[in-house]
Amino acid sequence: MSLPAMDTAGLAPVPFGASLVGASRNDLAASLREIGVANREVRMRVAQMWRWIYFQGAHSFDEMLNIGKPLRASLTQHYTLARPEVVTQQVSGDGTRKWLIRMPPVDTRDKGAEIECVYIPESDRGTLCVSSQVGCTLTCTFCHTGTQKLVRNLTQQEIVQQLVVARDMLGDFPGQTPPTDGFIPSGEGVRAVSNIVFMGMGEPLYNFDNVREAIGVLSDGDGLSLSKRRITVSTSGVVPEIGNLGEQAGTMLAISLHAVRDDLRNTLVPLNKKYPIRDLLEACRHYPGVSNARRITFEYVMLKGVNDSPAEARELVRLLKGIPAKINLIPFNPWPGTRYECSDWETIEKFSDIVFNAGYASPVRTPRGRDILAACGQLKSETEKLRARARLAVEDHDS
Ligand code: SAH
Ligand code: SF4
Repeated sequence: MSLPAMDTAGLAPVPFGASLVGASRNDLAASLREIGVANREVRMRVAQMWRWIYFQGAHSFDEMLNIGKPLRASLTQHYTLARPEVVTQQVSGDGTRKWLIRMPPVDTRDKGAEIECVYIPESDRGTLCVSSQVGCTLTCTFCHTGTQKLVRNLTQQEIVQQLVVARDMLGDFPGQTPPTDGFIPSGEGVRAVSNIVFMGMGEPLYNFDNVREAIGVLSDGDGLSLSKRRITVSTSGVVPEIGNLGEQAGTMLAISLHAVRDDLRNTLVPLNKKYPIRDLLEACRHYPGVSNARRITFEYVMLKGVNDSPAEARELVRLLKGIPAKINLIPFNPWPGTRYECSDWETIEKFSDIVFNAGYASPVRTPRGRDILAACGQLKSETEKLRARARLAVEDHDS
């Protein structure tokens, strides 16, 4: 039996005292019922609140002028429209912004997560790089995030809140003013945040349900209204979830490939031992919706003397034959303590030429925000660094 979405029973309402920002339509409906709103009224109220929260970026229920005073008062009494706190903002010389965001605790055991979120402006677009987990359970050897123990999955609300916070910080909701301390794209048809990539902290396909629900909110045309073609989920290769992502979320897919042989990929991306290259590429071939107009991005980090030979470039081209693909060569972003170095520029060019001559546009991703450790794989929340520093200080003291 299929029930209309709004009438689905048994959904968990947002707890009293918590924020409704990031909630899905179903969550809002359940929360309204919780404060006694009659069933027949719920759908209309959800539609109204949705516009206020996600289109207008409302900070207070009192702004919701098409909602009667008694209901506004009850909403104010039971819920908030609070955003997670922006602890620090760093603005790079190239306009990239990195925010350290502190989430309020989700339950009594949780101390509140800290995550980093990066905004990359370009002339015709703005890309927000969001996190799906605090840290990561996987341990890719070239990735800074992989050295941070997983603290927890982010909730659907916390994933959506990253975009709401970013738009607040960029003055991007109606009536807000953009900051003047760095470039933010604007003009006819240009949105400050036009694209979202799940390339921050964490493995999104290990937090699949929350990522899928968040994508539903982010792409809802009456609210935040991001096109699913402009949302890309990057995975290190969780093969069993790849088909589900295409079917249930319908976003673009990026694969962190980084090696063309299993023995090397086993070292760089240890998840490869579970899901080897052949299985991964098979899942890509069958990715729902894949076509020449909707290509899969293959990310390949350029590691000096490790995976950057011309023979590997040729093997890469051979492996991807028959898959509508884009290849993204990423200069390795170093981080303190890493054993890897970035390939030389000439090596990257040679690699890129081979890929280009095989018919792939092979943009070398210009590293952005390197000066503020905001580039791919450099994210690791400050708490962790502070804790490590504190540990060192204690050790110093002890010795
Ligand atoms: N866990 C997901 C998404 C987050 S990582 C994944 O692995 O795909 C986002 C991208 O940054 C991935 O392609 C990852 O391999 C890459 N990356 C990680 N560390 C990097 C580093 N130090 N330099 C350059 N790219 C890195
Ligand atoms: Fe996790 Fe992705 Fe980093 Fe690997 S590259 S450790 S999957 S965040």
